[in-house]
Amino acid sequence: MIVTRFAPSPTGRLHVGNIRTALHNWMWARRLGGRFLLRLDDTDRERSTEENAETIRSDLDWLDLTPDDSVRQSDRFSLYERRFEALRADGHVYPCYESAEELELKRKILAGRGLPPIYDRAALALNTDAIAAYEAEGRRPHWRFKLDHSSPIAWDDLIRGPQHLDPKLLSDPVIRRADGSWLYMLPSAIDDIDLEVTHVVRGEDHVTNTGLQLQMFAAMGSAPPAFAHEALLVGSEGKLSKRLGSLGCDAFREEGIEPLALIALLARIGTSLPVEAVADPATLIESFDFARFGRAPARFDLEELKALNTRMLHMTGFATVADRLPAGMDDAAWEAIRPNLNRLSDAADWWTVVENPVRAPVAPEDREYLAKAAALAAGADWNDAVWKTLTGILGAETGRKGKNLFLPLRLALTGREHGPDMNALLPLIGKQRAVARLESAAA
Ligand code: GLU
Repeated sequence: MIVTRFAPSPTGRLHVGNIRTALHNWMWARRLGGRFLLRLDDTDRERSTEENAETIRSDLDWLDLTPDDSVRQSDRFSLYERRFEALRADGHVYPCYESAEELELKRKILAGRGLPPIYDRAALALNTDAIAAYEAEGRRPHWRFKLDHSSPIAWDDLIRGPQHLDPKLLSDPVIRRADGSWLYMLPSAIDDIDLEVTHVVRGEDHVTNTGLQLQMFAAMGSAPPAFAHEALLVGSEGKLSKRLGSLGCDAFREEGIEPLALIALLARIGTSLPVEAVADPATLIESFDFARFGRAPARFDLEELKALNTRMLHMTGFATVADRLPAGMDDAAWEAIRPNLNRLSDAADWWTVVENPVRAPVAPEDREYLAKAAALAAGADWNDAVWKTLTGILGAETGRKGKNLFLPLRLALTGREHGPDMNALLPLIGKQRAVARLESAAA
C-alpha cells in the first residue's frame, strides 16, 4: 500500500509552493490507489495555531485534496519520548551543553580558517564530572543525533537520481532543545516509520535533511521510505518574489481562480508534460510520474494561471457550477455567458444585464433607428434566431452595416459595448424586456 504525507507546519497559511507539494503527494497516492495523509508539524507550540491548522484543512478541502487521514505531532510527544529513550540507550543521541553564543563562536572560528561550519562533537568528549559541573551551573542539555561516519549516505531519488552525502561533512543534527521541545528532524522520521509512509515527496531544500534522516531510520531499525525531492518554484522573472511566493488559496479565490485550474498548472509546471486545460484531475493523475520532473526550477506565472483558468472556465459544464450561479440562470444562460467570463463570479454581472433594467448611453442620431428596432422587435417571432432576423431586416431597411448596425442595439439592450454573443443573449433577455429597453433608449 502506497502512503504519502503532506506535512505543513501550522505556523502560517499554505502558499503556492506547499500547495504544489500537497498536490504531488495527493496525486501519487491517487495514481497508485494509496493513502494520502495530512500531518500537522506543530512541535513549535508557540508559533503553531489552531486557526492555521483549520485554514490548512479548509484550503485542502477547497482544492479537493482531502486527506484520507490526519495526525498532529503534538498528539505524539509520548511516542517521540519512547523512541528518544531507546536511541539514547543505544548511544545514538548525546547531550550537549554549548550555549548559542558558544556555538556561534565556534562557527566564526571555523569560518575564519575557511572551514565549513561542522559541529566538532566536543560534547561527546565530556566526562561525567564536566557534565555534573554544567548541570550544577543550571545548564540543561540540548541533544544531537550522532551520525554514523562509517556509513556513507546514499539513496536513489525518484526525481534527482542517485544521491550521495558524506556524513563526515555534516554536523550531528540537534534534535531536541534544552527545554525538551523537539526540532523537526527526528519526529518526522518517527512519524514516517509509524504511519508506514512509503513515499516522501518534498522540496529539494530538504535534500540534506533526507541524508540525516536516512541515518535515523537506520538507527531505529527501519527501512526508509522512497524520496522524491522536487525543484523549487520560481517566478517568471527567475526568482519567486515574496508576493508571488506567499499567494495562498484566499488570494487565488479572490482572483477568481478555480481550484482545478490551479491544480492543472501546479501538476505540470517543472515537468516535461504540457500545461493543459482539463475537465477533471483524472488526466493529470494518470500521467503523473516523477520521471517526468526536471531538475530545473518550475516556473510559476500568475498570468499563465489566469489564462488557463479562463480556458478551463469556458469548457466547464453547467452542472459543475450550477450551485454557484445566480438563481434562475439555466443551462442556456450559462452557455451564452460562459465565453465572456474570466472568472465565475462575473456571471452574476451578466445575469443582471439579462434580468434588470440597463442604462444605455444612446447617441441622438440613433434614436430613430432604435425606435424602428423596437417596433420590429415587438412584432418579431421570439426564437433562437431573433437577433439574426431583426438585424437582417434592420440592415436591409436602413442600409446600416457593421458597427453602425449592431452597436446601438447592443448598447440599448445591454447598456454595454461588449459582451456575450447577442444571438444567445437576446432570447434570454426576452421580448418584453428587449422591447422596453429599445423603446426607452429611443425616447
Ligand atoms: N514541516 C516540514 C516542512 O514544512 C515537513 C517537511 C517534510 O515533508 O518532511 O518543511
